[in-house]
Amino acid sequence: MRKFKTESKKLLDLMINSIYTNREIFLRELVSNASDAIDKLYLKSLTDASAQIDQANLAITVTPDKDARTLTISDNGIGMTAEELEKNLGTIAHSGSEEFKAANADKQGDAVDIIGRFGVGFYSAFMVAKEVSVVTRAFGSEECNRWTSDGIEGYTIEAVPADDPAYRQTAGSDVILTLKDNADEASYDEYLEEYTLKDLIRRYSNYVRYPVQMMITKSRQKEKPEDAGDDYKPEWEDYQELETINSMTPIWKKRGSDVTPEEYNEFYKSTFHDWEDPARTFSLHAEGTLEYDALLFIPGKAPFDLYSRDYEKGLELYSSNVLIMEKCADLLPDYYNFVRGVVDSADVTLNISRETLQQTRQLQAMERRIEKKVTSELESMRDNDRDDYVKFFENFGRGLKYGIYQSYGMKKDELGGLLLFWSAREQKYVTLQEYAEAMPEGQKAVYYAAGDDRERLAKMPVVKAVLAKGYDVLLCTEDVDEFCFQAMRDFEAKGLPKAYEDDAAREAAQKAQADGAEPETEDRTLELKNVSSGDLDLATEEEKKSAEEAAKANEDLFSAMKEALGEDVVTKVTVSARLTAADDAPSCVSAEGPVSLEMEKVLSAGPA
Ligand code: ADP
Ligand code: MG
Repeated sequence: MRKFKTESKKLLDLMINSIYTNREIFLRELVSNASDAIDKLYLKSLTDASAQIDQANLAITVTPDKDARTLTISDNGIGMTAEELEKNLGTIAHSGSEEFKAANADKQGDAVDIIGRFGVGFYSAFMVAKEVSVVTRAFGSEECNRWTSDGIEGYTIEAVPADDPAYRQTAGSDVILTLKDNADEASYDEYLEEYTLKDLIRRYSNYVRYPVQMMITKSRQKEKPEDAGDDYKPEWEDYQELETINSMTPIWKKRGSDVTPEEYNEFYKSTFHDWEDPARTFSLHAEGTLEYDALLFIPGKAPFDLYSRDYEKGLELYSSNVLIMEKCADLLPDYYNFVRGVVDSADVTLNISRETLQQTRQLQAMERRIEKKVTSELESMRDNDRDDYVKFFENFGRGLKYGIYQSYGMKKDELGGLLLFWSAREQKYVTLQEYAEAMPEGQKAVYYAAGDDRERLAKMPVVKAVLAKGYDVLLCTEDVDEFCFQAMRDFEAKGLPKAYEDDAAREAAQKAQADGAEPETEDRTLELKNVSSGDLDLATEEEKKSAEEAAKANEDLFSAMKEALGEDVVTKVTVSARLTAADDAPSCVSAEGPVSLEMEKVLSAGPA
């Protein structure tokens, strides 16, 4: 027996027990190696006239044997010589594939798809196997060799004679795992089950570009014998058929024009376990130093747990068509946590277990780009498909508002334009920009009212007063609304008709327009004002003056009222210019300062 090179015992133990968190990935690693081996042979055939291969036969097969408790992963790739076995499998952390990539760097593009890199993936087999043997025959050689190890001390390499049933008739490798014995805390039997194996292949290796096949047991009706009588009952028989389990071409690598909307919908529903079609499907292809493809979806409906702590955001991350992470959270900002999709990049730097990424900078760059793409997709939905957008917003709008609140308003430029609010005047959802565009001359702020119920808000005396003044009021019924507005403080409306300083300026502009000049526009920052907070400054000078006089005349009455109500209830009793004479309400309660009456309610009810 040869001992493993390197400080292997410890290293191997570390490998098997601590690098991977999830032992089922051994299959991903072995299938990836098989795919690499086929890639290498394929690449050789491109440059070496003597290496003629039949492309249609290139395949990986996965074969469980319940009686022997073995699982075999076979490929008809490049295989290994005895020396290569020694070098590649006898030395932990030696990657023949990385070497191959370096040697073929000039043939970039083809070689870049090779998955191997660290020279450790193979050993993940020892998470589930008590013994692994590799029977392999290198391309162009008659020799066949077997490498065998228990993954603890060392390994043996022996020649397999041509009359041995294990002898390979063609180039390639059989990796044979003898599964560990079941223990109390762990059973390995599942890795012999057709169902589990299919599931793992589809989960991790669905887009490996060679067929991953399994012999599947099926059942069919026996043919009816010629001489069958009238009382013949059909008989069934089992038969075996080689079936390709993976779908091979990643849908996100196909051109959009080659994929039907139904295919995208099917992919979405089967991958993300949704019953409904997505509301939007869009893709992104980044080139340059960091290349990646992304296929993204906005779900048609919010998952039931979206607003719970259990919800996990994230996109599926693939590297060279192999699944690395099912939910890579770093690819999405929190407020776009509803987005589903796949990101695939051969360029991301993976850590040794290939479970996480090393370079957070790469992730950040991807996240920013994805965020921009989602924003522009939502903007286009908002502008071109308002019905869809309203539905989207009813599902996910709350998260956008939280995004603004949680960023202390930093995100208001990105997200503010995506918000919808109920307009009391229009009786429909409007954006803040639309609100601003509908403002009459002289209106300087966006007015909103917050409470539990739209109808009740519409009946508030202050709301009526503001509406009577000709200003629209946004009726906000979600608990996050006010927090969002407070965090935003103001909103920058674009391209509003220019407000002129005085009549002379206005007349000059009107004249210019009559001579054919374009109407002038300007961007304006509008304060967001709660109708029930403080003074709305709606009153004319005259109204203000009379209110002041009334306050003075009734000073004694007000201080008596304040005393009667008590300091805990009110801090001030005064005459308000906010209530219109037409109003039927003689008085109203209002709050001053940053915390409104509604917010007080939310805050005292505890966290949402
Ligand atoms: P990596 O794939 O990161 O290089 P592995 O530990 O998975 O590392 O594999 C080590 C090396 O063993 C590979 O680089 C490759 O040279 C060789 N190898 C593994 N499996 C096969 C196979 N099925 N056919 C040919 N070579 C293989
Ligand atoms: Mg590998």
